[in-house]
Amino acid sequence: MIRERWIAAAATLTIALPASVSAQTADVLTTARRQAVERVSALEMETHLSYLASDMLEGRDTPSEGLQDAADYIASQFARAGLEPAADGSWFQTAVLYRYMDARGRQRMVQEEQLPEGVEAEPVRMHNVAGLLRGSDPRLEDTYILVSAHYDHVGIGRADASGDSIYNGANDNGSGTVTVVEMALAMGSAPPPRRSVLFITWFGEEKGLLGSRWYAEHPLVPLERTVANLNLEQVGRSDGDGGDQTGRMALTGHTFSEVPGYFQRAAEAVGVEVYHHEQYSAPFFSRSDNVALASKGIPAHTATVAFQYEDYHRPGDHWQKIDYANMALVARALVLGICLIADDPDPPCWNEEIPETRRYVEAWRRLHGGG
Ligand SMILES: [Zn+2]
Repeated sequence: MIRERWIAAAATLTIALPASVSAQTADVLTTARRQAVERVSALEMETHLSYLASDMLEGRDTPSEGLQDAADYIASQFARAGLEPAADGSWFQTAVLYRYMDARGRQRMVQEEQLPEGVEAEPVRMHNVAGLLRGSDPRLEDTYILVSAHYDHVGIGRADASGDSIYNGANDNGSGTVTVVEMALAMGSAPPPRRSVLFITWFGEEKGLLGSRWYAEHPLVPLERTVANLNLEQVGRSDGDGGDQTGRMALTGHTFSEVPGYFQRAAEAVGVEVYHHEQYSAPFFSRSDNVALASKGIPAHTATVAFQYEDYHRPGDHWQKIDYANMALVARALVLGICLIADDPDPPCWNEEIPETRRYVEAWRRLHGGG
């Protein structure tokens, strides 16, 4: 009951932000940024997700026709947002992987050079979907922030008690995908920030971070000029295992770099709390696509609303269970956070004081020509 009333309050928030803001908030929420933030629509996000997580797309397995239908939809929204196709004039970055059966009869997909000798393998083509929002500052426009989410899920599998065998993956990770799409539409409708923003959705996360790893080896913009990556996972369900997560979100690797601080400031300005999940923050850092970029030295984090939820990797992960008002609220905080990083001439740094970041700091040094 209380929760329902809260959602009603949040729903009104998606119409407009309060007209009077404190001086500190006004500093963060400039006119241009406010224009982008207010463009985010809970209803539009529901429209995107009711398609991407529909039975028609059959759970978006990698590879599958449903996955390509999802890619086509994302590309059409990037075009609508006014982004530039970012993969050599195309929306699709094509990856060619090799599929084979391993000794235990399980299907594997790997890059050509990782193929074991003597196995029979067939090439499979899949796509990351990428669109670029060109930055406004001639001195910073050739530096980039990646906003990403995996758009695949696990396809069709064992039926649940109701006979449903389609794993729709609405929260995992239709929610992250539609948030990337909505952020692109929002930012594309407002004066752009100083740095460029690359919006990208990954294939094959569920098969082992295939799309993000492919990207890390075949980047569309130079890695050494990519200042940060914000990856999104499971931002649609506020009914997580930790209880009601309405109005809150967490970033993995909360203490690992300066990136979470930008989102903390941004979130505060739109009424969202960024919290440090003491138990999951560090271990989940290496469980999602951000780690492919972090391993190259780029400060990269995944934002999440609920780490664990009841329908995780079950057929019941349906779009009707998503908290759209809250997802829009979170998207607003994320749009604003991206603007703050994109407008700051100083790129965010890794935290070099803690042992957990050592390998990422070393990768950063290699990337920037150090030892
Ligand atoms: Zn996921």
